[in-house]
Amino acid sequence: MSVGAYFDTHTHLTDPRFDADRVEVLARAAVVGVGRLVEIADSPEDWPRVLAFARAWPESVRCALGLHPYYAERCTDEFLAGLEREIGLPEVVAVGEIGLDYARGPVAPDIQKAALRSLLAACRRWDKPVVIHCREAYADLWAIVQEIFHFPPPGRRFWGVVHCFSGTPDDAESLAVAGWAIGADGPVTYPKNARLREVFRRVGPGVVVLETDSPYLPPQSSRGKRNEPQAVPEIAAALAEVWAMSVSDVARVTSENAGELFRLPEI
Ligand SMILES: [Zn+2]
Ligand SMILES: [Zn+2]
Repeated sequence: MSVGAYFDTHTHLTDPRFDADRVEVLARAAVVGVGRLVEIADSPEDWPRVLAFARAWPESVRCALGLHPYYAERCTDEFLAGLEREIGLPEVVAVGEIGLDYARGPVAPDIQKAALRSLLAACRRWDKPVVIHCREAYADLWAIVQEIFHFPPPGRRFWGVVHCFSGTPDDAESLAVAGWAIGADGPVTYPKNARLREVFRRVGPGVVVLETDSPYLPPQSSRGKRNEPQAVPEIAAALAEVWAMSVSDVARVTSENAGELFRLPEI
């Protein structure tokens, strides 16, 4: 993969909201130094699209195949067999997003938890990094990851990432010590979000990766608009202030973290 200063570890650029200008979006990202990204699939219907997108941009795009907790009831043995068939493809760097969402998720928590257990056990068998989505479910997430990943990752720093982190500083610290990277995105730039900045101050730059979650979660300068990967430097600037580091050091450290997370050695 080509090496840009920044790595956007979580995008949904195959969303129809980018149909009219996807190439321009990638070009705008490249101009500000966002040279690599991981495109995330929420359900099997997305998988062909994200794979095609990664194949179209082999220098800069990889993908992750997942089952968002909104679709947790679809996590059958047949689903897992289908995922296993795709997971070894060279474009696929992770399983995700998967997880727990008690805020808006239409699926009962017990069904979400059962699906997450099966998916995490599969990731461990397949030795594949994990992209976790978690909203208002950090206690249950912690219990389940401790069941399945109860020892440090062998020979590497991360089992996966808890993307769009929204838990407490204590949640973040526990997860970071247990081998989970912490994803930072637009909300860290919001003036009122001191608690989230405290999360990142507490865990420090060594476990943090940058992400936009485009088209969702725009940073402060574009709130209410469609988000895109060119927003990554604004997130980095907010973290530079939190850590009293230069923005270029934030770019370097978080991109190294992302390269290690997704096992892309070309740093
Ligand atoms: Zn998510
Ligand atoms: Zn997402």
